[in-house]
Amino acid sequence: MRYAILGTGVVGRTVAARLDSLGHEVVIGTRDPVATLAREDYAAWRTAHPAVGLATFPDAAREGEVLVNATGGRVSIAALTEADAAHLDGKILIDIANPLDFSRGFPPSLDPVDTDSLGELIQRTFPQLRVVKTLNTMHCSIMVDPALVPGEHNVFLSGEDADAKKAVHGLLVSFGWPDHAVLDLGGIETARGTEMLLPIWLRLMGSLGRTDFNFHIQGA
Ligand code: NAP
Repeated sequence: MRYAILGTGVVGRTVAARLDSLGHEVVIGTRDPVATLAREDYAAWRTAHPAVGLATFPDAAREGEVLVNATGGRVSIAALTEADAAHLDGKILIDIANPLDFSRGFPPSLDPVDTDSLGELIQRTFPQLRVVKTLNTMHCSIMVDPALVPGEHNVFLSGEDADAKKAVHGLLVSFGWPDHAVLDLGGIETARGTEMLLPIWLRLMGSLGRTDFNFHIQGA
């Protein structure tokens, strides 16, 4: 499968590296490949992952059969707009982003929140995409290597398209998630719930002083 990861941050690179290690073709999308390659963090990572391509958002989206949104949640609509609607048609978008608003400092607030979510906003804005919200409720190291957290813990799925969710469920299992750990919450509206886990996740990170933890739904 050919994956296009929109986002050059730690999340995009972590997911790209895992997909690459599983034998998938991977291209990462960015606003300006030359500027991104000039970044020390990205250049060092690229040396370690030479098979992963780097392209503009529209070129990456055109190449990808499945898309991953790993951009900042407050700029995801801008990034997808830049990716070009023509390259999104009918494709699955795995949405990992959280709409964190740091404009008033830390901890951030969420926007949208309560009566809307980023997952819904993306699905509404780009109805040609099959949006599956997942993996946004944990640190990126755990997304692709759930064994980093001992014992049982869960990952959530939200989305309107049953086939898309089935495909993403399969991908999560290939990352190492046990089948029963993947909890399908229902339609994309349920992304409100998982995005609103972020305030408690951030407080847990603060009080525990680390990121290698996750939510476990006992009795699920
Ligand atoms: P990030 O710094 O939040 O986002 C980086 C990406 O956003 C870059 O590719 C950047 O493009 C793009 N971007 C920034 N401003 C833009 C604009 N105005 N228009 C278009 N694109 C723009 O990356 P991250 O820390 O890896 O996080 C990615 C997402 O995952 C976030 O939504 C975050 O909340 C979520 N998340 C993170 C974790 C975690 O473990 N850190 C866990 C769960 C969810 P360029 O490449 O051109 O610079």
